[in-house]
Amino acid sequence: MKKNCKAVWDNCLKIIKDNISPQSFKTWFEPIKPVRLLDNVLTIQVPSQFFYEWLEEHYISLLKKTIKKELGTEGRLEYSIIMDNSFNNPTPYTIKFPTSNKKATANPAMTMPIDLNRGLSKDIPNPFIIPGLKKIKVNSQLNENYSFDNFVEGDCNRLARSAGYAVANNPGKTAFNPLLIYSNVGLGKTHLAHAIGLEVKNNFPEKTVLYVTSEQFTNQYIDAVRNNNQNDFIHFYQMIDVLIIDDIQFLASKEKTQEVYFHIFNHLHQNSRQLIITSDKPPVEMEGMNARLLSRFKWGLAADLQVPDLETRIAILEKKLYKDGVEMPREVVEYLSYSITTNVRELEGALISILAQSSLNKKSITLDLAKKMIDKFVKNTSREISIDYIQKIVCDYFGLPLEAINSKTRKREIVQARQLAMYFAKKLTKASLATIGLHCGNKDHATVLHACRTVNNLIETDKQFRVYVDELDKKITL
Ligand code: ADP
Ligand code: MG
Repeated sequence: MKKNCKAVWDNCLKIIKDNISPQSFKTWFEPIKPVRLLDNVLTIQVPSQFFYEWLEEHYISLLKKTIKKELGTEGRLEYSIIMDNSFNNPTPYTIKFPTSNKKATANPAMTMPIDLNRGLSKDIPNPFIIPGLKKIKVNSQLNENYSFDNFVEGDCNRLARSAGYAVANNPGKTAFNPLLIYSNVGLGKTHLAHAIGLEVKNNFPEKTVLYVTSEQFTNQYIDAVRNNNQNDFIHFYQMIDVLIIDDIQFLASKEKTQEVYFHIFNHLHQNSRQLIITSDKPPVEMEGMNARLLSRFKWGLAADLQVPDLETRIAILEKKLYKDGVEMPREVVEYLSYSITTNVRELEGALISILAQSSLNKKSITLDLAKKMIDKFVKNTSREISIDYIQKIVCDYFGLPLEAINSKTRKREIVQARQLAMYFAKKLTKASLATIGLHCGNKDHATVLHACRTVNNLIETDKQFRVYVDELDKKITL
């Protein structure tokens, strides 16, 4: 009986789904469309070149096994890539690529040598007014956009997110009291803190929730001291059901403010109210904090937010685009997610800049525009390293003429230099495997993958070789 390509692919998907994380499945397999099954060759359409390379690099073994299972040993896979899906060109054209014969490599170089930890300042006005003792309606200061729905789940935030969710469903009654969320900047602490507050409001509209930054808290306290109404201040805080203090690290060395917070904390905790705190460090590393207060922080749960992996970064951007009703070519989303790795706020910033650029200058959003933007956006702390530059350093190092790399020769030392150039190009530039191959002796992407794997193997097994690699790395990135 003739097999139908959709049915075959659906079966493959079932197997794949059981073998990888839901986030990866969503990112890399849901967008694939099966297009043809001819003579045991299944053609699947993927949204971009990068997408195809990623599949080849990470999922090739799994894909192979799956295809074999469905189509027998003769079964093969072929990709059809949408080459240009920018706005002006609604009809994509495709190129076909057969799958390589390589096994997946352990991915050697996923991080980009870009420093993104720029100082970020945010000056929000203080909308808070200290109320009198009368029963008042508290302005929770919660931002509706920072909901759980808008907070993408990933391995990076699973514990903090689920603890936050548990707290929101049972404020003050779980073991997570206080709940302390910590991470570097731009990884979602403030978002998650708001999400918990909003969810409490949803579940228990009668509860009083208050979000304040520790700066607001400090300023209010200073005002209260100045106006001689500290008691009002304390009473106000003591009637809150869920108190969220963001960026507690700014209380460092502010002894009086810490003391008053300590009293409020104790009162609330004794009355089973929920305390939520965010910080840039775990309690053990906090400095300038009162020891009694620190010991309180350890009563509950301290959960961290990690840097999201590529799949999660893509999902975050896609969620944002979807929410704003904006379309962006898949390859641009990938490029951004791939280039900006350590800070979600920076990632969103880049997205917004590109949208702005495109609408102001009436340009369509293309990979090219994204690349130009990113170069400007990412602070010029790290010099762009080019493939040519890498080749030059590698050739100089081994005393070879530069042309050697592009020549056809299979001489051992030249092959090795070529492989090293490919390895460093993959590790240190944003070039695709295909581009690297093209510039290193007109090879295909599979050869580049093979080179990276060979170098990685040699690094592990050959001490002298590792010395070469380390020295080269230093020379190139200096
Ligand atoms: P922090 O308080 O840790 O500095 P923020 O909470 O301000 O970080 O997050 C920075 C930006 O990144 C916000 O716009 C936030 O919505 C977004 N963000 C961070 N993590 C996620 C996530 N998991 N899902 C969706 N958006 C996120
Ligand atoms: Mg924050």
